[in-house]
Amino acid sequence: MTAQEKANLARFIDLASAYYTGGFLGEKREYHFIDDIAADIASGAANGAANGAANDAADNGAADSLDRIAADVHSCEKCRLYKDRKNAVPGEGVHNPLVMVIGEGPGADEDASGRPFVGRAGQLLDRMLESIGLSRESNCFIANVIKCRPPRNRDPHPDETAACASFITRQIAILEPHFIIAAGRIPAHALLATNEPVGKLRGTIRDFSTGSRTIPLVVTYHPSALLRNEDLKRPAWEDLKMLRSAIVAAGLADRLQ
Ligand code: URA
Repeated sequence: MTAQEKANLARFIDLASAYYTGGFLGEKREYHFIDDIAADIASGAANGAANGAANDAADNGAADSLDRIAADVHSCEKCRLYKDRKNAVPGEGVHNPLVMVIGEGPGADEDASGRPFVGRAGQLLDRMLESIGLSRESNCFIANVIKCRPPRNRDPHPDETAACASFITRQIAILEPHFIIAAGRIPAHALLATNEPVGKLRGTIRDFSTGSRTIPLVVTYHPSALLRNEDLKRPAWEDLKMLRSAIVAAGLADRLQ
């Protein structure tokens, strides 16, 4: 969408909502378009850690690091989600991972513990990863696009995704994963700048560009979706087998467990 089309659409939404609420055109609102968020993520990764860091905690000239990103996540107040969090959830795993798994955002268990994917969906994710020789202890890093729990596990709003985008770009820039799994619709859309359903995005290896590097990316169903719908387990298993074959084809089989 062009900038003019976005401006027209934003104007239309403002007018429609003013009409709906009785004709009052309130404060000018900001709209965040999915392609801009994805472009932010890609250019953040392209510009590497330094730019992302400069956008967050005061940049004292030190190189960015996972610890520093985690500290910035813990002190972040860039959107409304910080108000209700018990813990922000930066992510965890190994440096220079074979696979970086990117989920949506913390649920209740993750909010309580400060660790990603530790509830029922997380336990399923661990079993899925293990089935192809992957784990957060040995060769993966697990993170989310959103670092604080959205209330009642609702979808993150676009402005929340935009506010959080620099964290995942900084993590990708520092971690330099060989492969990325986008687990579910929210990370797939944020990383690939698309609104296509997961059913259309999965099944082939996609490219995530950091500007200087292209990282192969596999879209698959979110483990919570598999818990709700058994029929999705087979395609998710096919996605994992496809990823495993790509890892072997890339000469990285020795990094599997
Ligand atoms: N769902 C996610 O997307 N991420 C988590 O960390 C937990 C559940």
